[in-house]
Order: sequence, then structure tokens, then C-alpha cells
Amino acid sequence: MKGYIFDIKKFSVHDGPGIRTTLFLKGCPLNCVWCHNPEGIQKEPELWYFPNKCMHCSLCVQACPVEALSISEKDEQFRININHELCDSCGLCVEICPTQALLFDGREMDHEDAVNALLEDKSFYDESGGGVTLSGGDPVYQFQYALEILKECKARGVHTAIESALYCPSSVLQKLIPYTDLFICDLKIFDDEKHLEYTGGSNKIILENLKYLSASGKKILVRTPLIPHFSGSDENLKAIGTFILSLEGRVQYELLNYNSLAMSKYQIRNEKNDSIREAKPFSDAQLKSWQTMLADLGLDMINE
Ligand code: SF4
Ligand code: SF4
Repeated sequence: MKGYIFDIKKFSVHDGPGIRTTLFLKGCPLNCVWCHNPEGIQKEPELWYFPNKCMHCSLCVQACPVEALSISEKDEQFRININHELCDSCGLCVEICPTQALLFDGREMDHEDAVNALLEDKSFYDESGGGVTLSGGDPVYQFQYALEILKECKARGVHTAIESALYCPSSVLQKLIPYTDLFICDLKIFDDEKHLEYTGGSNKIILENLKYLSASGKKILVRTPLIPHFSGSDENLKAIGTFILSLEGRVQYELLNYNSLAMSKYQIRNEKNDSIREAKPFSDAQLKSWQTMLADLGLDMINE
């Protein structure tokens, strides 16, 4: 089965136990205003332009058969603009560009090739208690593809994990559960109106799916990315923590500090993202204070 991926990260130690390889699948059903992986939102590969690699030869503009590329020279700054509505991903501009200033942000990959790539480091997984993690984007967006990969990995005795916001029908989870050892679940904002406003989807389905998963007895780690002005507040974290305590079984919780690297991706895409333009990671003291607050509430915290 064919699917779309945008990265494979080897020797990952933050996406589940032991040494792991993380496969990033393209496509996400949500659209968070602070998204750290904008290359993961669209399912199909998208064209990116890297101005610092461009030698201003204009060959790409001449090669494009649908006139999706144009040149702008605002403030004497040469730049190629991409009209994504017109681009049909033929790849001619990528082929002709002498400096790799135009590249697609992902690629098609057969699930068997993905499994072979993931199993290259099986000896490290066996020694460290690690395995493979499917991330994204969100693996539920291409869940049939994810399912085929997970089935193969389980058949070869490899520990499997999924990183997901669980914004999907519970029937999707039902199919993934037998082949997934650990669910790493993003729960960003507890207030439903704010969740809808800032992520594009209601969190009702996410909370219901977390209840469903916890009742299944699967191992769960809930994570909250701490985004200034959105998710990083006493009120939000207490509400999420109280909800986690109401779930069945042992559910662990982890806070992830804000990572400002995402901003450079928006700059490359020539997109403004005013939501996170000024955002900075929280201080160690603030992080510790939230971790203590949540541990005091009774949560099983994993600290960074
Ligand atoms: S991928 Fe093809 S259609 Fe898209 S901008 Fe390049 S040449 Fe044009
Ligand atoms: S072909 Fe490449 S180097 Fe030439 S203008 Fe286009 S992006 Fe720049």
C-alpha cells in the first residue's frame, strides 16, 4: 500500500521507551495555529522554496507548464513565489533547479519499504527495549497505511507506538489497538470553545477517544505541548490533569515545553504566523512549578 511520509528519524529517545525510529506520516485532521510541523498538515507532498539556496536563474519559472511560479523582487530581494492552487506537483521545477532551492516536503512510500527502513535498527530496539513510533502530521489521517505498517512491525516482534491527537472516529482506534503497544496522545486545550478556535476541531471526540482507549487497557501517555497564550496556563493544565485522573488504568502525563524552531519553517514558506511570532519557551522554574502542581494533584508525571 502506498502512503505519504515526510521524515524518518532514527535513534529517537523522546517518542516512547528505548531507542526508536520515528516515521512521520503526512496529513493531519486538525490545523493548530502554532503547528510545529506545517509540512505534516497536507497529505500530498507540497513544494517548498529555500531562498538562501536560490541563484536567481529563473529556470524553474520557464519550466513550469502551468505558470504556478513567479518572481517577485520586492525591496530588491529576488524571490520565487509558488501558487499552490495551480501547482500540480509535476516536479519539473525540482528537476531543473541547479541548487535544490525547490524541494517537495514529503514523498510517496510503499508500506513495505517503510517497514524495511524501520527495521534497519531492530538490533538497537531489541537491546534498549525500543521500537518504532508513527508520528506526523497525525497517523490517523492515513490510518490504513499506518495499520499496514504496524501489523508488519508487530509480526516481526517490534514494539509499536503512535503519536496522535485522537481526532478520529473510535472505529479507527478499534482497528489500531491490536497492533499498537503505546498510544502517545496529544491533549492541548481542555476548554472546548478554545480548542475549536485554535485547532480547528472540537475536543469532545478526543476526550471520548481517550476514555475508550483507557477502557481498552492500552498503555497511554498523554502529552500537552506548552504554547504561550494557548495551552500553558494553570487553569488549562489543572483541567487536563483532572480529566486524566478520571480515566481508567495507569495513564502517564508529560508536559512538552514550547519549541521555537517552528517559526523558521513559516519564514521559509513566506507565511506569517502572528500567533507564535513572539513566543518563547517557558522557564525551567515555570515548568517545574507545573510539574509539581500536577504531581500533587496525583498525576503520574514524566519529566523532561
Ligand atoms: S511542481 Fe510542476 S506545476 Fe508545480 S511549480 Fe513545479 S513545475 Fe510548476
Ligand atoms: S531554478 Fe532554482 S536556483 Fe533557479 S530561480 Fe528557480 S529556485 Fe532559484
